[in-house]
Amino acid sequence: MCGIIGYIGSRQAGPILLEGLKKLEYRGYDSSGIAVIDDGVISVIKSVGMIKALDEKSKGGSVVSGTVGIGHTRWATHGAPSDENSHPHLSSDKRFAIVHNGIIENFESLRTELKSLGYKFTGETDSEVIAKLIQHHYCGDIISTLRTVITRLEGSYAVGIISADKPDALYAIRKDNPLVVGLGDGENFIASDYTAALEHTKNFVLLGDKEIAEITATETKFYDVDGKQIKKKPYTVEWNIEEAQKGGYAHFMLKEIFEQPRALTRTVRPRIAGDEIKLDGIEFDGDYLSSLERIDIIGCGSAYHAGIVGKSFIEKHCRIPVNNILASEYIYSDPITGPKTLTVIISQSGETADTLSALKIAASRGSRTLAVVNVVQSAIARAADDVLYTHAGPEIAVATTKGYTTQIAALYLIGLKIALKKGSITVKRYKELLSGLVTLPQTVEDMLSEAEVKKVRKYAEKFHNQKCVFFIGRGTDYAASLEGALKLKEISYIHAEAYAAGELKHGTISLIEDHTLTLALVTQEKLYHKMESNIKAVKSRGGTVIALASRANSKIKSCTDMLLTIPDCDDDISPVLTAVQLQLFAYYIALKRGCEIDTPRNLAKSVTVE
Ligand code: GLU
Repeated sequence: MCGIIGYIGSRQAGPILLEGLKKLEYRGYDSSGIAVIDDGVISVIKSVGMIKALDEKSKGGSVVSGTVGIGHTRWATHGAPSDENSHPHLSSDKRFAIVHNGIIENFESLRTELKSLGYKFTGETDSEVIAKLIQHHYCGDIISTLRTVITRLEGSYAVGIISADKPDALYAIRKDNPLVVGLGDGENFIASDYTAALEHTKNFVLLGDKEIAEITATETKFYDVDGKQIKKKPYTVEWNIEEAQKGGYAHFMLKEIFEQPRALTRTVRPRIAGDEIKLDGIEFDGDYLSSLERIDIIGCGSAYHAGIVGKSFIEKHCRIPVNNILASEYIYSDPITGPKTLTVIISQSGETADTLSALKIAASRGSRTLAVVNVVQSAIARAADDVLYTHAGPEIAVATTKGYTTQIAALYLIGLKIALKKGSITVKRYKELLSGLVTLPQTVEDMLSEAEVKKVRKYAEKFHNQKCVFFIGRGTDYAASLEGALKLKEISYIHAEAYAAGELKHGTISLIEDHTLTLALVTQEKLYHKMESNIKAVKSRGGTVIALASRANSKIKSCTDMLLTIPDCDDDISPVLTAVQLQLFAYYIALKRGCEIDTPRNLAKSVTVE
């Protein structure tokens, strides 16, 4: 939530900040703004709405001159998306400007205190107190001022700061929200994530909790909250800028759908050596597995759905009970966990606040934690006992696609590794599934052929005016339905509901009327006849049915209106294939409806607030 970018160097900051903000737009798009220092004066320009509004207003950032600046794209938590509430915020004396990502939980008491001291506030956002607080505690030395400010702030924050008194430096502090320092050649950056600075550098330093960064064009210094200077080791990010650009696609979402074969290859291939699965040093020894009683898989949104797919796979092959738990529920549930429970934590960004809190609770109760995340060095990756990176590359569209399917692939790897070690799977079956995983990227590639995509598009366009769509399936198809319905809701704003097909008759079938659209997933041969009956029940109430079936099940067409297929594959890994078809279906419906596909209303990626 919220994107921060900062620049210091010899080039004009405005255009660089604007370009950086465009890369961060997926993190929030209620408003945006930049602040640049020129000749000891801070100029601020802001605009409500998407970055393109700021781009126009600031002429691509060129209306402000100066080589040091900060920028922000907002996902409002406190105060409406208005000019007053947009960042950057200035101190009353206009000597400091700040951008903030996070929530200051004690902002009301700080605001009351500062108001009583004569500070005037222009908006309602919590972030404004940070600017005033810096001015209030300013003692001539910015590092010691920021140390005091850190002791006064409660909540979560990543803050970029510039000061008219120190026009040749850029500052940052953070707690529980992401912030990296990008190291360039004669120029440096701060950013909420790598993509914003990737065009300029691949070398980064991660700012730690309650640390302070002081950055000039040629030097970076880091301090702890006691003011002691600390050494930090830079690391290189193996992403490239093309991955963070649309590259000729109309939307990031479409590009990311098409990137899935490559992303899946990166998740799976490096972990397979012959018949062995090597999980970056993650081992489950025999004693640990014999004491293991349960696996909790925790996530939010699509990551939670990936966990549901993982549950079927792991329970089936490892014979260990698996719970799927929403992170936001887990953290207030006084969870029963401990050393006999393995907690698998899933988050694409690795910064999801609810998921990070869940991880901390599980760990504090003695459970081993294993994170499945995409972004290296993210908070969840650092906090977990073990981490398995999905290596999907940067995901920019708010609605996840490759992030989700690579999470599933990572769970398959974990499940297979445990199953073989535990002896709960035969070697023959293990090898079959392993080879299915190795060929999965190619199968997805085949599915993304022009002819196949055209067919999905045709059906999607036909139904773009639906008021409500049902997704039904059984077993893994039900798990895949949940994500299919979410995808459609997120980007097309059509109400969609996923139902376990056998459950429809226990209530929701009453909602099926003439032409209500149902997508029925029929990928498992053993459930074919059950699904056939469920589809007939929908049809006999006047509903329209599109079946999404494996080729082996394509005879289901005779009882439906339309048929989409996935290539034949092992039943246990079909959810990756159905996911791709359902992503395309949602995408083309949203496209026909004229929706802002990459940045759907009210949503943002990387949800760093609880
Ligand atoms: N709380 C700040 C605001 O509402 C920042 C929000 C965020 O980081 O998501 O402006």
